[in-house]
Amino acid sequence: MVKKIKNIRMAPCLLCGFNSSAVIYRKDTWQYLQCNNCGLVSIYPKLSETGVLNNYEAYLPTDILEIKKWKKMMRPVIETSVRIIRSRTKIDPGRLLDIGCGFGFFLNAMKQNHWEVAGIEISKGGRQYAKDHYDIDIYSKPLEALSLPDSYFDVVTLFYVIEHVADPITVLNEVNRILKPGGLVLIRWPHTTPIVKLLGPLSKHLDLYHTPYHLYDFSKQTIKQAITLSGFTGIETLVGGYTLAPDWINRWPSIVFGLLGELLFRLSGRKFHLPGISKTTVAFKPSEP
Ligand SMILES: [Zn+2]
Repeated sequence: MVKKIKNIRMAPCLLCGFNSSAVIYRKDTWQYLQCNNCGLVSIYPKLSETGVLNNYEAYLPTDILEIKKWKKMMRPVIETSVRIIRSRTKIDPGRLLDIGCGFGFFLNAMKQNHWEVAGIEISKGGRQYAKDHYDIDIYSKPLEALSLPDSYFDVVTLFYVIEHVADPITVLNEVNRILKPGGLVLIRWPHTTPIVKLLGPLSKHLDLYHTPYHLYDFSKQTIKQAITLSGFTGIETLVGGYTLAPDWINRWPSIVFGLLGELLFRLSGRKFHLPGISKTTVAFKPSEP
């Protein structure tokens, strides 16, 4: 087990305002702290907003073989997410925004289902690929800087983004504002902390938090809390497929644990979530009375 170093004081927890946390992981000068009240894991020290964004300008690979691997890796999650959205929205096709859309793979999948799509991507290579291959124009600025209109989108998606943003509550508030009443948000998030705790010192070699890129690590409870704070209802966490690692050594665990997670979820009457595997959470902006 990870040795718990004595509690340290920190800035109040983003979710619950509690002032005490435990160090659960260290790498170089970074620490990951777990709130002693709500369990939210966050990095310390925190990067500034500018520092965060500067990290992403050249974040995505540019080599075409690497991009193809990325596409293959995300395929099961993308296909599952298309089904999740289409089975839960009354409007189909509708208007969708994908925040942190990468190369535009998911946007293209929705475009092929006749959805009107828009994306945000800080990484220039991602935007260029989406334009060249799918003819989709992508915003280059972060969501908060775009001043998008109120109640405009039917669906907003964030795949592996929420753990990277400096202030997830501000981002989710903004997502709520730009969604139409009754609109849906879909968030795909990694659930890394249980594996880090299970592996103990061995987890250092894997650096599963991608230090310092993951600023937060959510659980089913803390993601629900963050989404609720931002005014969403009807929150539902699903397995949502699994990522398909390009090499066989990493691929079989993702398939085995992904399928096991889905099996246990179904056998438990959609209640049990296998800790440690990525999850998909959906929620709705309340309809106007
Ligand atoms: Zn907390």
